[in-house]
Amino acid sequence: MTNKLVYFIGNWKMFGDFTSIKIINKVNILSSKIKKKHKNHKIVLCVPNILIHYFSKFKTNKNITLGAQNCHHYDEGPFTGAVSASMIKKSGAKYIIIGHSENRSDGDSSKKIKMKIKLAIKKKLNIIFCIGETLLEKRNKKTFSVIRKQIRESLDKKIGIKKIIIAYEPVWCIGTGNTPNKTELLKTFDFIKKELKKFFNTSLNPTLLYGGSVNSKNIGLFSSLSLINGFLIGGASQSSNKFIDIIKNYYK
Ligand code: PEP
Repeated sequence: MTNKLVYFIGNWKMFGDFTSIKIINKVNILSSKIKKKHKNHKIVLCVPNILIHYFSKFKTNKNITLGAQNCHHYDEGPFTGAVSASMIKKSGAKYIIIGHSENRSDGDSSKKIKMKIKLAIKKKLNIIFCIGETLLEKRNKKTFSVIRKQIRESLDKKIGIKKIIIAYEPVWCIGTGNTPNKTELLKTFDFIKKELKKFFNTSLNPTLLYGGSVNSKNIGLFSSLSLINGFLIGGASQSSNKFIDIIKNYYK
């Protein structure tokens, strides 16, 4: 995995304000130091929409790419309070999270997620598409069928495997402190990889991230798994020190 690009993508959720630029500045300084030794990592911070344009004006933060956390499934129209993929792109974001379980539980169906992905791709945003099972689904041994359904119902075969980053985020691991064990992870990642290759009818490998309670202590478990191309990090990305410690420990 050492020569491949490794993604560290932060999902700030509903956190931060204009003063949070100091977090971005610090992550940039600290990660630039890591970059001297480990050139192959990419940092993306998905921040609240109102902060994207402001943060994007600080051009010195070269080591950080900005992203958004969601968009509306239409690109224009009478949708009070909503933000479109075009607006997000124009604000300076390069990435967008779509299908996060917190948005799914707020009403994002596979149909809506598919529409969002289509619009975001049209606007040349890089997609981070979240999939994963709930605790109940896991207990009922439905992990694979849930993931298969999420892939088949939300992706379009025409997109191609290279246009999309998949983040496997078991819902029972998000913000809970729980993580799957190594055997579970290997099995699930292998399944996702095969499923995507079959779906897109390609021999190319997908880009796969893990997300769910990643921290500086458990990152060692994941760094040994060559199927994983990076991480989607929620709570811990809101602190520059915690986020950087994850990256440092990944390379230890
Ligand atoms: C997330 O929100 O995508 C996430 C993985 O959160 P956390 O790291 O806090 O579990």
